[in-house]
Amino acid sequence: MGASEVCGGGVQGSRRTVWAKRQVIIVPEMLCGKCSRDAIIYRKHSGEALCREHFVEDFETNVKRAVEPPIVKGERVAVAFSGGKDSSVLLYALNEVLKGVELIAVTIDEGRV
Ligand SMILES: [Zn+2]
Repeated sequence: MGASEVCGGGVQGSRRTVWAKRQVIIVPEMLCGKCSRDAIIYRKHSGEALCREHFVEDFETNVKRAVEPPIVKGERVAVAFSGGKDSSVLLYALNEVLKGVELIAVTIDEGRV
């Protein structure tokens, strides 16, 4: 799923270190607020700790909510794609949540200035 994939982790004192593909996330020792498994992320804004499964579920729910108007199976959707991390995560997330929808990544070559 679009967020960094968790590759491993360890416990050091009262903090747990989670190694994601391209970053290290240090989270306090805490449990998921939805299932009591080890949390991999803590959201300061909501005070919510989530395990990997519930983080992915929540992320995908938010992506579905953000798509307006609702896109239905069989439609074809062009997605602006710069090739950077943000548009890459967006394209990946849309592919995960919009089953049966044809996605076309569109990149504009601005040429040389
Ligand atoms: Zn959970």
